[in-house]
Amino acid sequence: MEKRELVCVACPLGCRITVEIGDDKSVLSVTGNTCKRGEEYAKTECTSPTRMLTTTVKVTGGKAVVVPVKSASPLPKGLLMDCMKVINKASAAAPVKIGDTVISDILGTGVDIIATNNAE
Ligand code: SF4
Repeated sequence: MEKRELVCVACPLGCRITVEIGDDKSVLSVTGNTCKRGEEYAKTECTSPTRMLTTTVKVTGGKAVVVPVKSASPLPKGLLMDCMKVINKASAAAPVKIGDTVISDILGTGVDIIATNNAE
């Protein structure tokens, strides 16, 4: 059995959470959380960690050089570097509007990369 200590990032309180993980990598117990969100965060973090991705994409044919983007939902942590390689090669034609999908279904994850600002 393995014990992991985490700080919950699901809200600003930052509870310290202890997770016991079995030899088969399953979560045996979660303690230290003060709400259900903390338990869910801890389980996800220990079994299939995810992260929101925020970065920029090149813009062509407009005044702006880049537009800020983010993943529409969290991506598997292990795919973030590969997602960045795809994003770094991509470009968006101006004008880009906030909320536009710049890359759809990145790496087959079902997650879109969307603009978080306008680019003329
Ligand atoms: S366990 Fe609940 S109260 Fe504590 S930091 Fe996480 S979300 Fe906030």
